[in-house]
Amino acid sequence: MNVADRFRSPDFPVIFERGRPGRRAARPPITEGAPMAELLGEEHLRAAPPRLPEVAELDLVRHYTQLAHRQFSIDGNVYPLGSCTMKYNPKLHEDAAERFLDLHPYQDPDHAQGILELLHRLQEDLATVTGMDAVSLQPAAGAHGELTGILMIRAFHAANGEDAQRRVVLCPDGAHGTNPATAAMAGYEVVEVPTGPDGEVDLAGFKAALGPETAAVMLTNPNTLGIFETRILEIADAAHAVGAQLYYDGANLNAIVGRARPGDMGFDVVHLNLHKTMTTPHGGGGPGTGPVGVKAHLAPFLPVPFVAQEGDRYVLVEDVPASIGRMRSFYGNVGNLVRAYAYLRRLGAEGLRRVSTMAVLNANYLRVRMKEAGYTVAFDRVNMHEFVAQPPDGVRTLDVAKALLDYGVHPMTVYFPLVVREAMMVEPTETESLETLDAYAAVLGEVLERAAADPDYLAEAPLTTPVRRLDEVAAARKPILKHPFGAS
Ligand SMILES: *Cc1c(COP(=O)(O)O)cnc(C)c1O
Repeated sequence: MNVADRFRSPDFPVIFERGRPGRRAARPPITEGAPMAELLGEEHLRAAPPRLPEVAELDLVRHYTQLAHRQFSIDGNVYPLGSCTMKYNPKLHEDAAERFLDLHPYQDPDHAQGILELLHRLQEDLATVTGMDAVSLQPAAGAHGELTGILMIRAFHAANGEDAQRRVVLCPDGAHGTNPATAAMAGYEVVEVPTGPDGEVDLAGFKAALGPETAAVMLTNPNTLGIFETRILEIADAAHAVGAQLYYDGANLNAIVGRARPGDMGFDVVHLNLHKTMTTPHGGGGPGTGPVGVKAHLAPFLPVPFVAQEGDRYVLVEDVPASIGRMRSFYGNVGNLVRAYAYLRRLGAEGLRRVSTMAVLNANYLRVRMKEAGYTVAFDRVNMHEFVAQPPDGVRTLDVAKALLDYGVHPMTVYFPLVVREAMMVEPTETESLETLDAYAAVLGEVLERAAADPDYLAEAPLTTPVRRLDEVAAARKPILKHPFGAS
């Protein structure tokens, strides 16, 4: 076994086994000579020492480095997770964000004019990119932006005396789960709109579902099949004709950014996922950022505070009577807002146009390569930034996804959207090279060949990862919150 394999082996001793009494990585200076009881007070002392590994600094560094190498990330290899836009997070943006680390959210706005100006410019840039009139940077994720947007729509209907009448939110059957979940959280009944045979919203079904009780229609364009809704203007007109508001789920903005704007398609509210379209990090459900943009008639309901310009000063506006209130602590996820601003300024209008051009080209290229490799494509037509494929009969999507792990690449999104059986939703993004797309398609082909030659392999895969197939339900419901190979 070579050294790298030994590190990956489940039998390799982890930090608990490596500990030896008395070994130290560091010793806080405060403990030198001073009696702990005097420093902390007797009542704060432990009765027994904590059960922690005692290790030298090098053991500690190796422990975390080895764990980091078990982690899959976009910095490690291709990660074409459909709908999630797992594009590269440029390192320059990290540097930009670090420059603002010494600011404190309780700082007097007069002493924080730089960051307020940056946030104000970002509000304006995002309004321009989406075709909206006003933007709030507060929401902490796309789903949180959805809730913010739908609560604003609800406040708008209430201000018109129509809250009791408008009880329904329409969502396509291919919608991301957060759309109906958001509508339900905001107190609405959800009605599903069918997908037509061309992969677009079924217009007749949609019109039949619309009525005076419709509060909002939630759509993403391109939709979750990666297909552009070509009848979007007709959809918008029909929704507005019954007094409903049109909500744009911006998760798929990467397909059109710099080329087309939801505001011009008739949408009244949008959210953006800065961790998707604008290259800020996705982080284990952590540092998401989901700004919302609105047309002028919804601007009075925006969350507070937001940044406004008064003469040559930037101020935080708090006192807005119709506002839905505060959606998050302080001013949003400021570190990510700085990263997104850096991205927009580096690219400019021409660069953003190139992003969507290449994202769509890469996805169409990979679609054709996957067909050549033996997969079928659902709603096979020219797609936008992503597409939905299916494995050949007799092969399960889950098994292909697990086998991909043996090749060191990340699977696509699987079993979503729900309207496609054995769905494999692939979104390569513009940041992958031609060579990487070819390599991914080749691996997908190899998995099918291997499955044909050795039917047991697919059911067994992955063979080379530190852990094999997990009981995902048990992992979520009954997590074991300690190192799986550590001390019992
Ligand atoms: C990612 C995604 C969301 C939710 O966004 P989060 O930032 O993960 O909360 C909503 N809709 C679609 C289509 C998405 O892909």
